[in-house]
Amino acid sequence: MKSIIKLPWRTTGYIRSSLLKISRPEYVKKSLKERRGQCNQCGYCCPVWCIHFNKKEVSCRIYKNRSSHCRSFPIDSKTLKIYGIENKCGYYWEKGEVK
Ligand code: SF4
Ligand code: SF4
Repeated sequence: MKSIIKLPWRTTGYIRSSLLKISRPEYVKKSLKERRGQCNQCGYCCPVWCIHFNKKEVSCRIYKNRSSHCRSFPIDSKTLKIYGIENKCGYYWEKGEVK
């Protein structure tokens, strides 16, 4: 299952994103403002332990009502690198890493 692949990195990415939202909210706000593209619902960012994750169809059961935490994924281009989904996620940053 593709969601299990890179699980340790996903956990690292999840923790990093959560900490950045607390410690550097302005950075997160700026980075999300510069985010381009849109979600293609690939499911690569969804942890297998999420109760809303449909493992069989690799999709979110509550996609339209998902939390703000889910909607804010990815918070920056580094998140995509950590997850190893730079070429899979529909979001990207034209200017690369936000300073
Ligand atoms: S709620 Fe949906 S979008 Fe959020 S992690 Fe779970 S399956 Fe993924
Ligand atoms: S990896 Fe990106 S495109 Fe895929 S479901 Fe998550 S936010 Fe959407």
